[in-house]
Amino acid sequence: MAAPDLDTLLADIRACRVCAGEMPHEPRPVIQAHRDARILLVGQAPGTRVHASGKPFTDPSGDRLRDWLQIDEASFYDPTKLAIVPMGFCFPGLDAKGGDLPPRRECAPLWQARVRENLPNVRLTLLVGQYATRFWLGSRAHKTLTETVRQAERYAPDFLPLPHPSWRNSAWLRKNPWFGEIILPMLRCRMKDLLS
Ligand code: SF4
Repeated sequence: MAAPDLDTLLADIRACRVCAGEMPHEPRPVIQAHRDARILLVGQAPGTRVHASGKPFTDPSGDRLRDWLQIDEASFYDPTKLAIVPMGFCFPGLDAKGGDLPPRRECAPLWQARVRENLPNVRLTLLVGQYATRFWLGSRAHKTLTETVRQAERYAPDFLPLPHPSWRNSAWLRKNPWFGEIILPMLRCRMKDLLS
């Protein structure tokens, strides 16, 4: 049987109910993709605001991420430019301290490779956070995300690992100034090239 095209696959994802009953709400998959996209951004999972909006990165993490990428909202939400495919498509719920739970572990093995197969024009995959980095780099990733990000050049030109842009990582960003000095200019250069 032929593999489904991207539109069929996106419809299947939006109808997915694999985790129904495992989360305190109905599944609401959030994904943005088009065959023409040259950049793929693999994030973590929606938080409460994204779950409510149904649109990726409609939160302070998104503001910081767009600043890192030096991209305006129109381009960020243009699926022909940027595919946004998180490790977990649905908001997983909150832990006892009010933080987001990890992405549902059922999601990535089920969907990531199938979506990637339908994005033939991708030249750069941005791996945002530890879950995306571990999944896509496997044994090529270092033990810590910090070291993996520091060694970003090793994964070029296909991948560029990044920390999560959450406000929770503000202390990490202060502690690791090389990220702003070396990695962000590299990232912005690749973005400019691929969006032009
Ligand atoms: S998190 Fe992924 S696997 Fe689970 S219901 Fe949502 S789309 Fe399906």
